[in-house]
Amino acid sequence: MMRLPKFTYRVPLTLGEAVKMRGEAGPEGQFVAGGTDLYPNMKRRQQTPRVVISVARLRELREISGDGRSGLRIGAGVTLTEICEHPVVNRDYPFVARAARLISTPTLRNMGTIGGNLLLDTRCNYYDQNYEWRKSINFCMKKDGEICWVAPGSSKCWAVQSSDLVPLMVAIGARVRLASTLGEREVLAAGLYNDDGIDYLHKRPDELLVDIHLPPAGGWRATYKKLRRRGSFDFPVLGVAVRLDVEGDGTVSDAKLVLGGVAPAPLEVKDARAALVGGPLDDERIQRAAETCYLKARPLDNTDFIMNWRKQMTRPYVRRALEELKEQ
Ligand SMILES: Cc1cc2nc3c(=O)[nH]c(=O)nc-3n(C[C@H](O)[C@H](O)[C@H](O)COP(=O)(O)OP(=O)(O)OC[C@H]3O[C@@H](n4cnc5c(N)ncnc54)[C@H](O)[C@@H]3O)c2cc1C
Ligand code: SF4
Repeated sequence: MMRLPKFTYRVPLTLGEAVKMRGEAGPEGQFVAGGTDLYPNMKRRQQTPRVVISVARLRELREISGDGRSGLRIGAGVTLTEICEHPVVNRDYPFVARAARLISTPTLRNMGTIGGNLLLDTRCNYYDQNYEWRKSINFCMKKDGEICWVAPGSSKCWAVQSSDLVPLMVAIGARVRLASTLGEREVLAAGLYNDDGIDYLHKRPDELLVDIHLPPAGGWRATYKKLRRRGSFDFPVLGVAVRLDVEGDGTVSDAKLVLGGVAPAPLEVKDARAALVGGPLDDERIQRAAETCYLKARPLDNTDFIMNWRKQMTRPYVRRALEELKEQ
């Protein structure tokens, strides 16, 4: 049985207290929400904070406010189950509820939060193993070792961005609010991710994710498609998120296609926008966008399934996403 290492557990009741505690803990500290990512990582000694600061009692993080007309604010501590069931999310942003429903299992969705999902550690077959397994291969660069077993000549870690909501939040232009003892800042979700499996966030470790702001819902459509081995439980090995702005006559005026599960950060395929914009969402445009995404997706051999097949699946998954949006 894998046991948690010893740590001090702190439960702030206000945002001010939380960022102060985190500031005091320094490099030894880490926030926890549902713990569905952090605690398994601690059991495997991938992450070893000595002070764990819970965000569970912070009222601001537990609220959902606004709607599709004004834009929706979702507190970072709102659980995935609450998102799946929330009437306004289902009415005005149904693609968010559907994507959240694809995450993991009902039990994990009851604990796991949207904030934890957006800040999920990157994943790799050589890293997501217990301590003894990792020790037997002399560890790897992401934790305790010196070499990357996926690309031994590489100075970069290729562990994969594996959250289902990240590509969707990037595609729809969501913004996130971060707080620390130095104050608050708001950034586009797209600006939060760094294409490096070790240093995967453009966020200081002491910054608390407070909430996520979805833009007003009118005039655009969005969807998310997920490839995984089983219909439940499994992380995505490919995620396709699409946002389309379509004019009254059916002309696509803007488009954003973002792939997850193929790189250390969500991958926006800018050429796919060029393939789609300026005309109707017809088969030719859909095919061109799918081909562009296929060319840009370069998964490596560090998750489930062989990489060539995962790359090939980009075409049908992009097609499926766009065909679904064509019918809306
Ligand atoms: C078996 C299994 C299957 C899974 N399947 C999927 C899947 O299919 N798709 C998927 O996307 N995920 C999956 N997950 C991962 C995880 O369950 C979810 O991503 C979940 O949403 C994480 O949320 P959490 O609140 O539990 O995060 P936590 O474990 O509490 O935190 C995750 C990270 O975020 C940080 N953090 C959390 N909240 C904040 C905050 N407010 N401010 C600053 N830092 C914060 C923590 O310090 C930690 O680094 C799976 C996990 C397991 C164990
Ligand atoms: S990509 Fe390389 S360095 Fe990164 S976790 Fe995997 S084996 Fe380790």
